[in-house]
Amino acid sequence: MVGCAANPVTGKSQFMMVSEAQEIEIDKQHSPHQFSSDYGSLQDTSLNNYIDRTGKNIAARTHRPHMPYSFRGVNATYVNAYAFPGGSIAVTRGILLALENEAQLAALLGHELGHVNRRHTAEQMSKSVLTNLFVGGVATYAGTKSSGFGRLASQLGMVGAGALLASYSRDNEREADASGLEYMVRAGYNSNEFVGLMDMLRRMSKNKPNAIELMFATHPMSDERYRTAVEAVRTQYRSSRSFPLYRDRYMDHTTKLRSIKEAIQAMQKGESLMAKGKYGEAEIHFSKALRQTPDDYAGLVMMSKCQMAQKNYAKAGSFAEKAKTVYPQESQAYYLSGFAKIKQKDYASAYEEFKYYEKVLPGNPNTIFFEGLSLEGMQQIKKSANEYNKYLQIVNQGEKAKYAYQRLVKWGYIKK
Ligand SMILES: [Zn+2]
Repeated sequence: MVGCAANPVTGKSQFMMVSEAQEIEIDKQHSPHQFSSDYGSLQDTSLNNYIDRTGKNIAARTHRPHMPYSFRGVNATYVNAYAFPGGSIAVTRGILLALENEAQLAALLGHELGHVNRRHTAEQMSKSVLTNLFVGGVATYAGTKSSGFGRLASQLGMVGAGALLASYSRDNEREADASGLEYMVRAGYNSNEFVGLMDMLRRMSKNKPNAIELMFATHPMSDERYRTAVEAVRTQYRSSRSFPLYRDRYMDHTTKLRSIKEAIQAMQKGESLMAKGKYGEAEIHFSKALRQTPDDYAGLVMMSKCQMAQKNYAKAGSFAEKAKTVYPQESQAYYLSGFAKIKQKDYASAYEEFKYYEKVLPGNPNTIFFEGLSLEGMQQIKKSANEYNKYLQIVNQGEKAKYAYQRLVKWGYIKK
């Protein structure tokens, strides 16, 4: 598949080493890890279906209508939206709370659809030496871009925030804006709201720089980008400035979400304090959030991580347990619960948690390492060696690899 392909939007030849089938495969491999890292899809099915419906209505009018698009809200509270190359697209609760009407949601989804249609991820992978690493699996990417509570994140070996997201260039952004505007107008939305969305994001970058940091890191914002959009709306899309906003429809579907706005804001504060290593202060905000929404999965998982960072493993474990019961289909809580159990030397239970996690969300090699560690704790040396060996087939650097290697040497499976 190495060579040039006609870009679906521009028709121009584009250097491309990644086929459409590979784009879909990469999406399938990576997007579930990102969605889980963002605390899973919204359990508010009415809102989630509304986002999917809105997205698919626009997707049908794009240059690649045949792609397997899916749209969802995710429980994360920071402000972000992203697309995987096969068309799996997500928006966080943080950004859903900030949007003012459906036309702004359409602008946001339109921009993400722009990235998919212009094949930006595939194009970047084709240019990058990372291509093979990326295609090879989640492994090599996990954690590399994990911001925030670095040490714990790397100790945990969870997929770091944004670790699997493409970072687009300024050219990519300009192109995604152009396509996004075109698509939202085709779907009948007021073009003014494309600028409305940008205004909102720019305001937010002044007021809540931490919550929006990752979004601007992956989708770079610039004055030039803003001016281009303003100009396009003023000229090319002038006639669609009278199209509807669908504000009421957006407000109706987000009623429940907006009713817990304060809790979400408390989680945002807690997360930025976690990123600064201020765990005690972060805990105060997570407690506040959980007083308002005691069954909030993201809130419980964030609190579990906050306890973990403070080495309160029993507490961390009990928040993870509660998170499992409020959202059993989502896997991150199982991983945390497993880690807390290892720290409390309850190896047999830890092993069960990691085994379950690996079944639900395969592809993170750190799970294999922790299975090995649990088995070692259970004195099942042969089985443990087997897992360490599997781990070393995928990962050959870092603390965990060193540990696994030393064990295999010690037990005589590797001759020095
Ligand atoms: Zn973008």
